Amino acid sequence: MEWLGLLFITEPPRSGQVILNGAHDPFLVFLAYLVACVGSFATLDMAERVGHAEKIASKRLWRWVGAGCLAGGIWAMHFISMLAFQAPVEIHYQLPITLLSLLFALTASWLAMHTLSHPDLNFWQYLRAAVWIGLGIATMHYVGMAAMRSVATAYYNPAWFVLSIVIAIGASLAALLISSHLRDGTGLYHPLIKFTASLVLGAGIVSMHFTGMAALTLVLPTGSLPMLPAENNHLQLGLTVAIMALLIIGSCISAALADKKLQNKEHDLRRVNALLSQLDQARMSLQQVAHYDALTNLINRRGFNQIFAEKLIEKTNEGGMLAVLFLDIDHFKRINDSLGHDAGDELLKVLANHIKSSVRSHDDVVARFGGDEFCILIGLHDREEARHMAQRIMLKMKDPIELSGRRMVMTTSIGISLFPEDGKTCEELLKNADLALYQSKGSGRNSLHFFSSNLRTRATMELQLEEELRHALREDTGLMIHYQPIYDLKSGQVTKLEALIRWQHPIHGLLTPERFIGIAEANGLIAELDNWVLRKACEDLGELSRHGCEALKIAVNCSPLNLAREELADEIEYALRVAGVAPERLELEVTENALMGNIANTLMLLRQIRALGVSLSIDDFGTGYSSLAYLKRLPLNTLKIDRSFIQDIPKATQDMEIVQAIIVMAHTLHLQVVTEGVETFEQYDFLERQGSDFVQGYLLSRPVPLEELRPVLNEINQRKHPHTVSPLSLARGTTALTSTDLFPKSPGPHAGASIVRPIH
Ligand code: C2E
Ligand code: MG
Ligand code: MG
Repeated sequence: MEWLGLLFITEPPRSGQVILNGAHDPFLVFLAYLVACVGSFATLDMAERVGHAEKIASKRLWRWVGAGCLAGGIWAMHFISMLAFQAPVEIHYQLPITLLSLLFALTASWLAMHTLSHPDLNFWQYLRAAVWIGLGIATMHYVGMAAMRSVATAYYNPAWFVLSIVIAIGASLAALLISSHLRDGTGLYHPLIKFTASLVLGAGIVSMHFTGMAALTLVLPTGSLPMLPAENNHLQLGLTVAIMALLIIGSCISAALADKKLQNKEHDLRRVNALLSQLDQARMSLQQVAHYDALTNLINRRGFNQIFAEKLIEKTNEGGMLAVLFLDIDHFKRINDSLGHDAGDELLKVLANHIKSSVRSHDDVVARFGGDEFCILIGLHDREEARHMAQRIMLKMKDPIELSGRRMVMTTSIGISLFPEDGKTCEELLKNADLALYQSKGSGRNSLHFFSSNLRTRATMELQLEEELRHALREDTGLMIHYQPIYDLKSGQVTKLEALIRWQHPIHGLLTPERFIGIAEANGLIAELDNWVLRKACEDLGELSRHGCEALKIAVNCSPLNLAREELADEIEYALRVAGVAPERLELEVTENALMGNIANTLMLLRQIRALGVSLSIDDFGTGYSSLAYLKRLPLNTLKIDRSFIQDIPKATQDMEIVQAIIVMAHTLHLQVVTEGVETFEQYDFLERQGSDFVQGYLLSRPVPLEELRPVLNEINQRKHPHTVSPLSLARGTTALTSTDLFPKSPGPHAGASIVRPIH
């Protein structure tokens, strides 16, 4: 069989011919092997590059470079091996066929690289690539041999021929299977695997060549003589080809390495960019958390301060006015306490929306400072704009809100400060708006107030008072108790005293509790103060007992804040024990709102106190917020009707009806009734007729110090018993006794403190 002039199956002639066997230069053979190995290394490296490259263009490029390196390596190996071949005939090579052999090698190499560039390769794909490489090597070899021109005829042994192809494919498969471990990464063994695979593939290429050469027999025609080995430049040429091939392949490897590094750099850069953008996002969410209120989505205090500072700089430089509106939702705590915090949160969201919808534009800044405190910053031209804005908000706030199945109307108190007249800095303006808000709350809430310098003076004074009160408590100086008698209408005797604190201030004189209880409550002094009153009152009760008033009871006021302290019951017990006073002689006065606060805890504490034997009374009844359902559950003994219901009697008929209803209700709940603030006989008469159990007020006596108490008590107790006098005849003044018998007009030793209005 003849292919490209090569005789494969044809047997060489048996006689009359000279059969030549060529030898090989070992150095050039080694050089050929080196080139084959380097070419193989480059191919495997490129296959790896193709697998890792991300861009299509670079995959294509490295596929071509890989194919070039393999084809170049095989071709150079073949060329050098042929130079190593020393035959006793002159040999020439035909260029077109030589180039064709290179083309064959290149095509097969490209097909192999194409197969190898799949991301996940299985055994069959490796086999396919191995077949391409093997065929590439073999085709290149045999086409290259066909380019050989000499007087001798080339005969091929078919067995060796087939074996050469099998070797080429087998070695390629082995090399590729070894190199399959390269795909998964880097590591210590990575270069080792690559070198081993390159050596195996290189060996495969060379083995195929020499098996092919072993299959070759050159036969000279009869009569022609073999040539003696002559001087040639094969070594030089082989070296040159090897160096050039190595240089080209080496530069391809370097380029691939540089590309890999570049890609890694790009990777790093992308990772850094991704990290940077993640960082940016994290920063933005932090910013959101740091500057926004999660519940209402309004900015928070920090965010507000930042914007406020910027606006202040702007207005300071360019001129213009700003207003800070400080808002506080009236009695918001009640919602939280009665309907729970979830309902409170819901309500805050609605109110935040109400506020937002009342401001004018995006320029106005609305913030939630926490709890039920909101703050608004607006730019304006005159102070009336701030007033209108505040009024608009107050009106909007009154829109009924449906919450937990209830319909409720909220109101708000607002304090306003203006830039530049009320302050130049954020802190100053906020503080002054807060002072104005305090004023709004103090004047009955649901109102607005502008800051004025008096407020500042008052605030400064309060600060001073707070310090002095702290000092007075610490040193036990200046604080004292005045006692006001509580008159039992049935027995006609004073059976109880209310302990009312006073403060003898070194500069301001005698201060009533209104001046300092609020300060004590706001500054954490109230527990200490109430405890002081409790101990002193028990002590004084002990003293009174020693002077013949064994039956007297004392009522002590208790701040709502104290009802949240679990230790209260222990403190009461301790005070009673130290003074040696029976618990039944002590009564604790608590206000309605205090009771309705945290009802479960309060109930527990009140039961503890009741268990001691101490009585409980609900003070200022009618001014606060209480539910009959709760009242029924509380372990109360007494209900004190607030002075505000009494003061206009007998003119206010509605008040009279209310008082009447309260008394009936209290009696239904088995509570005794004390009516506070009784100043006139008409009031006394009315209350007696309505069945009030006790009265307390200036009509009987103002609160007096302990030293002055006994004469006052004697004097009241010695007055004619009211039951002996018909209220009707008293009112008409027709009996022998007159109202002045009960409450004499002429000042007694202490009657100067009583207000007595005789009936005409
Ligand atoms: P309160 O417990 O309702 O005490 C009654 C207040 O009404 C007392 O005022 C008393 O002087 C006043 N008052 C009594 N009768 C009349 C009257 O006929 N006409 C008028 N106009 N007023 C009358 P005070 O002593 O100024 O006490 C005011 C409030 O301060 C008390 O109201 C009580 O809530 C609180 N308070 C007094 N002492 C203490 C205390 O030791 N601890 C606590 N936490 N609060 C106290
Ligand atoms: Mg009281
Ligand atoms: Mg009261």
